[in-house]
Order: sequence, then structure tokens, then C-alpha cells
Amino acid sequence: MKIGRFVVDTHVHAQRHAAGDRLRQRAATDNQNDARYTDLSHEMRHLIAYDNSPRLKFDMETYGVDMCVLLPSFGMTNEINLEIVRNDPDKFVAVCNAKKTVDKALAGEEPWSIEAACAELDGYLSTGNFIGIGEGCPGNPTRKTTIGQTERMDEIRVAMQLARKHKVPMQFHTGVVMGYPLTHCYWPETLNPMWLIDIATEFPDVPMVLNHGGMQGWHSKKWVEDCLFLAAASDNVYLETGLWWTELYERALVDPNIGPEKLMWGTDWGASLPIHGQLRHEPQTYAVQYRRQGVVSHQVDMWGWSLKQLWRLDIPQDDLNLILGGTAARVYKLPVPHTRLFKPVNPKLVPQMEK
Ligand SMILES: [Zn+2]
Repeated sequence: MKIGRFVVDTHVHAQRHAAGDRLRQRAATDNQNDARYTDLSHEMRHLIAYDNSPRLKFDMETYGVDMCVLLPSFGMTNEINLEIVRNDPDKFVAVCNAKKTVDKALAGEEPWSIEAACAELDGYLSTGNFIGIGEGCPGNPTRKTTIGQTERMDEIRVAMQLARKHKVPMQFHTGVVMGYPLTHCYWPETLNPMWLIDIATEFPDVPMVLNHGGMQGWHSKKWVEDCLFLAAASDNVYLETGLWWTELYERALVDPNIGPEKLMWGTDWGASLPIHGQLRHEPQTYAVQYRRQGVVSHQVDMWGWSLKQLWRLDIPQDDLNLILGGTAARVYKLPVPHTRLFKPVNPKLVPQMEK
């Protein structure tokens, strides 16, 4: 049985890096037995990604997932995602990021700026082929020093103006996963989600989707707490929840200012992100990268794990359906097969998104 009537994963990477050779070379040079996540994070930006949608479609069939929101990430191109969407428009939609601006900065051709990134995004969004901006809000990939809060917030404001112009949601990355180095140079808001309360208040008409809802990995709830606050204290903040374990859903569902209408399932399918088990400890399973074991080589079964967390929730099916697709359909204006599939929610949530 399918877990819901229209199931959407809002955080999917349908492209994969052929990183093996370069990682093995690096490991050999450094006298390491295994390729490390820090190496992968450096190599990803330079690698060519390939279309991994056949494996994705196999999992969609296996787990009854109807639609995926495709996110480009390091090294993944908007063009490949668009091709995947064009081949199956009833199964896929895509958000865009400013990859060419990143590539030029990494190649030393043109220094990165938020203005250049937004000019590139403006071009993609003007085609009408993309439904939002992500993964995360554009940041400077060449920066090696800490960026201050004021400076980063001003970059984010420029990007939010663009989201407002095109009436699309803006994604922000929150949470960390242990293997990939994540510092205050690139996406400081991922370690300080609380900063975003100012942005949410300044741009009440622009939906903000927090990638991972503070839980990209690890067992601590510290960033989830901040994200719960943002969702509870703002009408325009939504949380991706696909890497949450059951108890985290319960926390959000009993909060009278959050509830299923602020949650959308989104797992990070396609990321090199194993699920760790620790029987008789809380949580018994959670996503995390193993720094000492090196990069996982198989396609981790994220949906099997994540959907199990949701099956445990004994809540009304119409509420579950909001988490599994209804909230995403509303916020991203997804093409759904029928009207009235989802229970209506307070129209104050994203009222301005009507075009
Ligand atoms: Zn991701």
C-alpha cells in the first residue's frame, strides 16, 4: 500500500558524480585506505555529474513516490535536471541554482557576487521552467574566510528580492552531516538558522523552505529547534522533514503554530548520506556520514528508512497527506492530477502566491 495518495519528495538529487577514480587517486596520494568526505566535497564542484534518473525511477516505483522536486547541488547542472523534467513532466519539477556563476568563480574567470548569481537565476526563472531557487541560497564558493552576519544577510536580501519578483520559494540550507566540511564561509545560516527570522519578517510574502528542517544528519536536535522556532513564528517558513525521525515529526505536529501544513517531506535522495543504527538509544537510527569509514559507494535506501518514520505516526491520513505532498503542492504550485486531493489550509499561508 502507498503511504499517501500523492507522494512528493521535495529534496531529490537525480544526478550523481562519477567520483571514484579521482577519490581513489587522492586517497592513494594521502596514504588513506578509503576516500574521505572532505575529498568528495572538494571534488564534487569540479566533477561532471551524470543523469541518475533510471535508479531514481526504480525507487519511485518501489516506494510509491509520485513526484520529485529536483535540486541541483555541487557540480550538478540545471540543464540535466531540465532534461529529466522534460522527459517526464508529470513526475518531475526542478528548482534552479546559479551554477555558471560558481563555475566561473572557481575557474578564476570572474569573482563571485550575489548580483551575478541573481542575474543568472533571473534568466532561468524567466523561462518559467523552474519552480524555485535551491538547494540553499546562493553563496560564494571561493571564500576562505568567515563571512559576517550583516554581509551574509545583505546577500540573502538580494536573492529574496529576486524570489519576490518571480513569486517563487527560496530554499535555505540548515543542518550539517559531519563528513562534508561546513563552516561560516559559505552558508553560515546553515549553522545559524536563527538569523533567518529577520529575513522571514522582512519578506513575509516570499515562501522560505528550510532544506532538511535543521536535520541533515547527526543525532543532535540543536538546529531543528531553531527551525521549529522559525516555522512557528512566521507564516512563510516551511520545513523539509525527510531526514527527521518519528519523534521530531511529533514535536512539530503538536505545536499549534506548526502542524502538517508547514511540513513537506524531502529526503536528500541521491546524496552520499548513510543511515546509522544504534539500538536501544534515542534515536535508534539517524543519517550521518562516517568520517573514518569514507564515502559510501552504494545508493543508500533513504526512502525505506524515511517512510518508516512516517508510517509510525498515528495521525489523520489527511494530515499525513499534507506532509507527503499537499504542502509542497501548495507552496511550489505543483501540477497535481486532481483538485481537492488535500484538505484546505488557512489561506493566510502564502496568500500572495496566487498569480
Ligand atoms: Zn541536498
